[in-house]
Amino acid sequence: VRKRNARQGQAPATDAAPSSEADNSTMKSPASPTKTSFKLRVRCPVCGFTQAGTRTPKTCPACGSSSEHFESFEVPIAARRSRLLALRLHPISSHAAPAFSATLLLLTAVLALADAAAAFGVALIGTIQVLSVLLPISIIVAAATGLIDAQARVKRRTTRLLIRKLAVSALFLALSFAAGALALLKPFDSATLLPYGVLMALCSACALYLGRSGSQLRNALVPE
Ligand SMILES: [Zn+2]
Repeated sequence: VRKRNARQGQAPATDAAPSSEADNSTMKSPASPTKTSFKLRVRCPVCGFTQAGTRTPKTCPACGSSSEHFESFEVPIAARRSRLLALRLHPISSHAAPAFSATLLLLTAVLALADAAAAFGVALIGTIQVLSVLLPISIIVAAATGLIDAQARVKRRTTRLLIRKLAVSALFLALSFAAGALALLKPFDSATLLPYGVLMALCSACALYLGRSGSQLRNALVPE
């Protein structure tokens, strides 16, 4: 069923070429292969999981049911958007900020138990300072690629979910700047440890919200 559907999906594109040669008025139809690519996807009828392409694994990666009943469908999407989304800029770059936040929270907890003056403590503080610089940079990169991704995926940046994501990203960035200032501008001592830990817990909460809301948008794709 899947293979037949896939072939049907390709049929309009190949049929369009001879007819557009015969009739100039249809030359620049939306089906023109230079402007529109038909993004083929397969969908699991059991859980709704979708995946790009026509090839399917033996079982659904999401729910484990047999993929023999997977149905294929196509989303007409401009070639430029298709190429941009294929780079997966936001899904990849957005992993850094949550990883840095969680690592910094963990390192702060370890430092609270370690002797800050010993060699291990000094190395910990150095690591915290380096990661405190990388955290705001990673948030800015993730937000920038998120805006590019939203424009390519849903062709809007002002839906309620996207505005909420941007607001939480701005809060995340402000918290990371405050944590960075604490880590770099003053000696990192026991007085710094508690406020820094609180800031990292809040940063991790922002990262968690952004990751969860982002996964809702993973399969969103507005046609054409
Ligand atoms: Zn499934």
